[in-house]
Amino acid sequence: MAGAARGNVVVNAEECKGCGLCVESCPPHCLELGAELNAYGAHPAHYTGHDCTGCGICFYCCPEPGSITVYRVKAKPKAVAVPGGEYAPAL
Ligand code: SF4
Ligand code: SF4
Repeated sequence: MAGAARGNVVVNAEECKGCGLCVESCPPHCLELGAELNAYGAHPAHYTGHDCTGCGICFYCCPEPGSITVYRVKAKPKAVAVPGGEYAPAL
């Protein structure tokens, strides 16, 4: 079973040209080309909905500005031990 998602990806289907570079570049293979056609007559990529790490590789590979937006889960501040046994945020 996969761990908690660390990222999320949204593809603008009307900007995507269906080149598939993001699909090929995604390390956990969580993008795929859809069966539907957009206004360009291309099969736009979409997120399968699981396993995105938020690495951003798909964003950097995509030749179409505005096609992919990557979101990363905001890390919680780490707690550290302080004298007296209590915990305080690290930052
Ligand atoms: S951000 Fe990384 S893991 Fe997420 S869809 Fe893009 S390439 Fe895949
Ligand atoms: S790399 Fe960009 S244009 Fe190519 S399929 Fe992925 S989102 Fe679409």
